[in-house]
This record gives sequence, C-alpha cells and structure tokens, in this order.
Amino acid sequence: MLDLKQVILDKIKKNGGWVNAHAHIDRAFTINPKLYKLANKLRHEKWLLNAELRKTSTVPQVYGRMARALELMISQGVSAIGSFIDVDPHMKDKAIQAARRIKEKYKSQINIKFINHSSYGILTKETRNWFEVGAQFADIIGGMVKANQDRKEEYLDILLQTAKSKKKMAHVHVDEENTLSEKETELLAKKTIEYGMEGKVVGIHGISINTHPKEYRERLYKLMGKAKLMMIACPISWLNSRRADELTPTHNPSTPVDELLPYKIPVAIGGDNIADLFMPYNDGIMWNDLRALMEMNRLYDIKSLVDIATLNGRKALGLE
Ligand SMILES: [Zn+2]
Repeated sequence: MLDLKQVILDKIKKNGGWVNAHAHIDRAFTINPKLYKLANKLRHEKWLLNAELRKTSTVPQVYGRMARALELMISQGVSAIGSFIDVDPHMKDKAIQAARRIKEKYKSQINIKFINHSSYGILTKETRNWFEVGAQFADIIGGMVKANQDRKEEYLDILLQTAKSKKKMAHVHVDEENTLSEKETELLAKKTIEYGMEGKVVGIHGISINTHPKEYRERLYKLMGKAKLMMIACPISWLNSRRADELTPTHNPSTPVDELLPYKIPVAIGGDNIADLFMPYNDGIMWNDLRALMEMNRLYDIKSLVDIATLNGRKALGLE
C-alpha cells in the first residue's frame, strides 16, 4: 500500500529535516485553568491577556517551557526553529536570559534563531527601549503590525530601519484577522522596497489576503515578488478563524500558498503557539500543520510540500 505520509516524512528527513519557521516557545505549555476560561476571547484581546503571565514568569520557568518545546521538536526531526520571544515592559529581559542559556544547551541538536517580540507595540518610550534591547539580542528582528494598529507605517519604519542598521532579517506578523479591512502584507512589501531590504523580510500569516478580489491579489503577488518577500504559514493556528458577515471571495483561512507558489514566493511553515492561551490544544506536531496546509490549499505536489517543510524554512531563517 502507498503510504504517502511516510513518503513525505522520508523526503523531509533526506532534505535536512523539518524547519519550524515560526513559534513562541517562551509561552509554550502555559495553558492553565484560569487562562483556559479565556480561550474564546478575541485574538487581539489575548495579546494583552497574557500580561499576568509575562509579569509573573521566572527565568527558570521560561527556560523549562523552551526546553520542553525544543525536546518536542527534536523528537520529530526538526533541525531548525525560529522562535519569537517576548521582550517588553512586562517580560523585560527574562526570555532573553532563558534564550541565551537554552541556545548553548541545545546547540548541537537544533539550530535556533530567536526573534524579539512585543505585543504592546514599540512606539512609547518604554516599549521602544525594550524593543532596542530585544533587537540587540535577537538573530532576527520581530514585529506584529497590529501592535501599533493606528500607526502601522511608523511602526514598520522603525522596525525595518533597525533591521537594516543591524544587518538582520525581519519577521513580521501581518494580515492576521481574515478581514477585508487589512492590507498589511501590501504595506510590508512596499516598506521592504523602500528600505532596500529585498530578500530579507518575511511575513507571517497573510490570511486576510484571501478576502480581497482576484485583481488585488495578483497585483499584491507581483509586488511581493519585487520585494522578494517570503511568507510563513501557520496552518493550525488559523483553523479557528471566526465567522464574519463580511462578503469576501470563498476561501479557507490559510496563507494563500496555492496562489503564492506560481509567483515563486517562498512559503515556509510554522507551528506557532503550543498549548497556550491562543491555541490550548495545539500539541506542536509539525505533520499536523503540513497536513492542514495541504488540505486548505489543495496542495498535493510532494516536492512543494517538502520544500515548504525544509528548504523554504531555512531560507526564511537566513540559513540558506
Ligand atoms: Zn506568532
């Protein structure tokens, strides 16, 4: 009998192993009864609901979560991971301290790229200071456009300027809410060109791209090609996309991988949140994400799937 899953897993192994290009391992396994009661809150509310966790977490606790997540990755043959870590006025440098130690401990087993993150934005004095601390430590500069919802351009100016001056790549959460009101991937592509950062910037998610008409999407893909933008899809994370009464083209809540590949835009895959407030049931199994990605995009070309799970992840993390 043809065992297609095994065929793909064998090819992934032969191609250097899985690459989990997007994670938040400092928050992995933090779901508890109190947070679980908030699991149905809106996504943007959850960014702030984790405040208590950030304030009370100790460095050994963060280290423990990271270690457990990394063991889980290594057990599946993940060879490289890109993980955001919170560096903000609540978390301060606790995740940095844990990250420094964990990188040393696991350096022979998995290639780890750390990416700084602030759910509170970077435009107040205090958040900006912590952004600078995070950017200094991080391998890749991280962002989330919606963290400064009303000042997105200014946000990206600071982020890309910082990445450029530090000669680092940038990973940015964009177009997350599956709504017509978002055009963040387009803004990221334009800013990438403006700062001459072509080939160094990666968008994460891009779900809302699907809500726009075909002409818009095709224009966007050309622009993304010009900016040499890469994308990371986190398929399991978006299976819980909300019902809305907005009229949009019929689509699945996924990075539009099926449309991006013909434009030669590299798409990598990420497991995103593991057993936390955002995804209490996500058990961090990479195969589940690849499976969701292939079904949501009707993508059954094995070479493309293997590239997404391996090579494209290395590209997105700057390892190729
Ligand atoms: Zn994320």
